[in-house]
Amino acid sequence: MKDMSFALTDDQKALKTAVYDLCKQYTGEYWRELDAKREYPDAFINDLTKAGYLAVLIPQEYGGAGLGIMEAALILEEINRSGGNGGACHAQMYIMGTVLRHGSEPQKRQYLPKLATGELRLQAFGVTEPNAGSDTTKLQTTAIKKGDRYVVNGQKMFISRVLQSDLMLLLARTTPVDQVKKKTDGLSVFLIDIREAKGKGLDVRPLRMMMNHSTNALFFDNLEIPASSLIGQEGKGFSYILDGMNAERILVASDSLGDARWFIEKAVAYSSQRVIFGKPIGANQGVQFPIAKAYMAIEAADLMRTKAAKLFDADISCGPEANMAKYLASEAAIEAGNACIDCHGGYGFAEEYDIERKFRESRLYRAAPINNNLIMAYVGEHVLGMPRSY
Ligand SMILES: Cc1cc2nc3c(=O)[nH]c(=O)nc-3n(C[C@H](O)[C@H](O)[C@H](O)COP(=O)(O)OP(=O)(O)OC[C@H]3O[C@@H](n4cnc5c(N)ncnc54)[C@H](O)[C@@H]3O)c2cc1C
Repeated sequence: MKDMSFALTDDQKALKTAVYDLCKQYTGEYWRELDAKREYPDAFINDLTKAGYLAVLIPQEYGGAGLGIMEAALILEEINRSGGNGGACHAQMYIMGTVLRHGSEPQKRQYLPKLATGELRLQAFGVTEPNAGSDTTKLQTTAIKKGDRYVVNGQKMFISRVLQSDLMLLLARTTPVDQVKKKTDGLSVFLIDIREAKGKGLDVRPLRMMMNHSTNALFFDNLEIPASSLIGQEGKGFSYILDGMNAERILVASDSLGDARWFIEKAVAYSSQRVIFGKPIGANQGVQFPIAKAYMAIEAADLMRTKAAKLFDADISCGPEANMAKYLASEAAIEAGNACIDCHGGYGFAEEYDIERKFRESRLYRAAPINNNLIMAYVGEHVLGMPRSY
């Protein structure tokens, strides 16, 4: 790539400001109350949808803004930097990518314009299973074709926003693993209408998690879905999911960068004004250096995220950069969160300061949507050419 300038355009800077200003209307109190009740941020999501921010990646011909992953990344960063939680937003942005890339033209015409206006929500993505975990090809949920229907049976774990979405993308096995050449074959992606499925073969059981994430266990018991729910070709679902991974990594890295920046802004402000032993605590190197160190980690992660996004938008392969960005940003957020809690003393643990909430929220991204261990395994194997560990 000849031009690797990381400077933002004037439009991107204006986008950041506009998103931040909108998000700031949703105060810490708003997020805290939702967190306590484990409720979905409906008003916030509706406002962002109305402003067109969640449809940023949907092409204009389907009613979206048709912008790049860089713009989507900046939106998520600002949501999280403002003190909010962009989990539902990043899901809406990337899950629809599978429909966009692999759906038929009628499917795209049916769903994408309604996703762009907010008439429909697609924020649920069912991959993880209790007996497969990170080893996706071992998943046991089956979808067996019977005439013009598929019949789905199995169980999914930790599937977020099922009760707040109209549609869910589901990965299920359509050909038994012992009947395919490669274990990655025989998996298929379906776009399920949750409203029709609930209670008719789909049972949704909410899980109370460490953070407010609307997460559930799902049970499929002879759920019948129309054969037209299949996205793309039967048996090719694993490659479709892989296709979307780089975008997802870049978006999650941006959530983490926003969290990390929120922690640092809080830490700098507090430690500059809190006077103990006759001077601001931030004058002590024991307080200042962890904040400065975390800031450097954030800036380095930002460079990698921006490089990955620029490569992605230029249609140049960016697997290593997208993975490294997700790793670096999620670790930087944890480092910044620790520095922020530490400099706040006891107040860092008090709910009304929002730091403990943001810490819980940002901690997720070390583990999901993919664990950082597996990112290191990717770098070891695919970037450094070392032996495969799993
Ligand atoms: C709040 C929340 C929301 C989620 N939302 C969704 C969702 O909407 N949709 C969805 O499909 N999933 C979702 N997930 C699931 C998440 O993606 C999984 O937790 C994750 O993929 C790992 O699966 P597992 O939890 O079974 O862990 P396991 O695969 O059992 O792994 C456990 C630990 O072992 C490590 N490990 C395993 N194998 C190796 C190896 N070879 N080398 C090194 N370390 C290894 C892992 O890194 C991890 O630390 C969510 C999870 C959470 C916590």
